Amino acid sequence: AETFNKIAAGEVVERPSSVVKELLENAIDAGATEIHLEIADGGESLIKIVDNGEGILEEDLRHAFLPHATSKIRSADDLFSIRTMGFRGEALSSIASVAKVLTRSKTAGEDGREILVEGGEIRYEKYAPMDQGTLMEVRDLFYNVPARKKFLKTKSREGSIISEIVAKITLAHPHIAFDLVVDGKNVLRTYGTGEQSDVIRQVYSKKVQENAFYFEEHYDSFSIHGFIGKEEISRGSRSHETIFVNKRLIQSKVITAAVERAFKSFATVNRFPFFVLNLEIFPELIDVNIHPQKAEIKFEDEGHIFKSVFQTVHDALKKGLQ
Ligand code: ADP
Ligand code: MG
Repeated sequence: AETFNKIAAGEVVERPSSVVKELLENAIDAGATEIHLEIADGGESLIKIVDNGEGILEEDLRHAFLPHATSKIRSADDLFSIRTMGFRGEALSSIASVAKVLTRSKTAGEDGREILVEGGEIRYEKYAPMDQGTLMEVRDLFYNVPARKKFLKTKSREGSIISEIVAKITLAHPHIAFDLVVDGKNVLRTYGTGEQSDVIRQVYSKKVQENAFYFEEHYDSFSIHGFIGKEEISRGSRSHETIFVNKRLIQSKVITAAVERAFKSFATVNRFPFFVLNLEIFPELIDVNIHPQKAEIKFEDEGHIFKSVFQTVHDALKKGLQ
């Protein structure tokens, strides 16, 4: 079982940023309104997250680290209407099989508990007083799989990949206050005001926020809203292009192509736009399960999505620029 887990871990946990993404999604699923994140050495030596969410029940704590333990899917039908971020119960067991994970958690009605899992083995579990919520410290990622360590980029590069992912996730959750500390320095803070444009200001700048156009359009089975900047802020990189489908950070060639096509109708130079696009769609019309890290999703009607996104963004730019 341990070997199996280490292999499975390779799919979910490719690099430190994958751990960060999974832990953030768990905190968000737990209904947290405040999330504190801290990393050291590009996430290799430490990834720490503290949330004020619902906590993990005492009886569930050790099971959360077993493969396919999830509290989020109750029946097979649920698989087709996933509304939480996580759903396969693979993340914690995968992470804990390739790192040392200390967890402290407390629900509303119980005492706090602490558990240490190293390389998939539970070292101890004990009572630990704390406020409601969950703390996780992931230390020494890949300490027992040196082959994977070799694939990591420099610590500063891994650190920037993490900062970029955290920034994008904060954009999808304007109601949650986030802060990110990298090697002892606070690099990002949002306040949970509920406004995505406030988060754009925090993540990028006042100038970017003030120069962005809002767009919004409703269709039969989905709706689109977001912001697109009239000037390019990224040269030769798509790092300022952010797409959420049902608040899930994803990659989508169709959506990217549609926005870029609309942007190019007005841009004089060949660069990538800054945009944040939120698509809300009936979960039945997408397949989120085609990628191990749940990054790429599939739409039932790609042509319709392309046309709608293109039209919405195109109209917003046209209106904004005239
Ligand atoms: P999934 O998110 O797919 O259910 P995970 O392996 O990410 O699976 O997590 C396993 C379970 O641990 C979750 O279903 C949830 O019950 C619990 N859990 C993990 N992190 C948290 C958290 N921060 N707050 C509350 N519960 C959590
Ligand atoms: Mg999860």
